[in-house]
Amino acid sequence: MRAVRWWGRLPLLSLLLSLLLSLLLAFKAQAGPVAAPPCDRAEPVPWRELAPGVWVWEGANEEVSPANAGHVAPTSVVVDSGEALVIDPGPGLQHGLRVRASIRCRFKARVVQVVNTHAHAENVLANAAFADLPIAADAGTREAMVARCPDCLQSLTQRAGDAAMAGTTIVWPGVRLQPGDALRVGRLTLQVLDREQGHTASDLVLWMPQHRVLWAGGLAYGGRLPELAQGSVEQWLAALDRLQRLQPLRVVGSRVGDAGLLDATQLYLQTLRSRVLAAMDAGRHAGELQAVRLDEWAGWAGFAERQGFNTQRAWRELEPVWMDQATAPGAAPAPPASVEQVGR
Ligand SMILES: [Zn+2]
Repeated sequence: MRAVRWWGRLPLLSLLLSLLLSLLLAFKAQAGPVAAPPCDRAEPVPWRELAPGVWVWEGANEEVSPANAGHVAPTSVVVDSGEALVIDPGPGLQHGLRVRASIRCRFKARVVQVVNTHAHAENVLANAAFADLPIAADAGTREAMVARCPDCLQSLTQRAGDAAMAGTTIVWPGVRLQPGDALRVGRLTLQVLDREQGHTASDLVLWMPQHRVLWAGGLAYGGRLPELAQGSVEQWLAALDRLQRLQPLRVVGSRVGDAGLLDATQLYLQTLRSRVLAAMDAGRHAGELQAVRLDEWAGWAGFAERQGFNTQRAWRELEPVWMDQATAPGAAPAPPASVEQVGR
């Protein structure tokens, strides 16, 4: 009798079961972006070990294009005792999923946190692959992402191509980092240093004293033209002085290397600064960008695309500095014609 009643209720039961199953599937789709591939089908990542527990996947040292799929900034992972911290997960969902699968399959580790060093699309949009995990950044980076990421996703998709950016959505950092914070990964610790404002309005710097590894975000370049973006020449140079004092053995910036990347970036910015000031001294005006030549860097990637922008930005920032120098006590008075030419 009982069996009959049970079977009699089967249509209702199966309806309830299928509803439950769809609810579970919907929840799963929200909690994780895509089902993780089995390890024998996961595409490996060409990690390079920088120091014990510190691995980087270097990007192409060139401008974003469909050929490099937007991977022009290094993705790092710090791994210890089965835990992993991802720094700058990369340009999009597909890249991030590959990183995540590799951490699980190769390092047998679980990601405990993702960190965004600054609000540039090629560094942060792979947050999409880690949406169910804590994503950390400083307040300025989050603010800049909220202001600019809808446009930066569109812009990166145009430059890197639809295939590279397929499925990518914007995922904001939910954990706020502050100077003095310590990020722990197993037995390893990374320190959050003071915020810098050279490459963007908010550049996060991380330091691992144990192995003297420095993560400088977009503050260190080599072979590719530094991007003044939303930053400042003066503050970038001051930041590089502070970073040099740490005497890092390894530097992860726009590319991966040693303190030579800080030297190279410093030389470019110092030269840009002094030549812009010299052009002002010579009575040139802001419309004459060709008056500032930095031909020694013509072989660096991005020179054709960015040198004019960098000069323009440096000019706007340095104009008041030049005026102050010209009117300082004891300084020779600036020739009136050049004052007119700089638009004052
Ligand atoms: Zn950047």
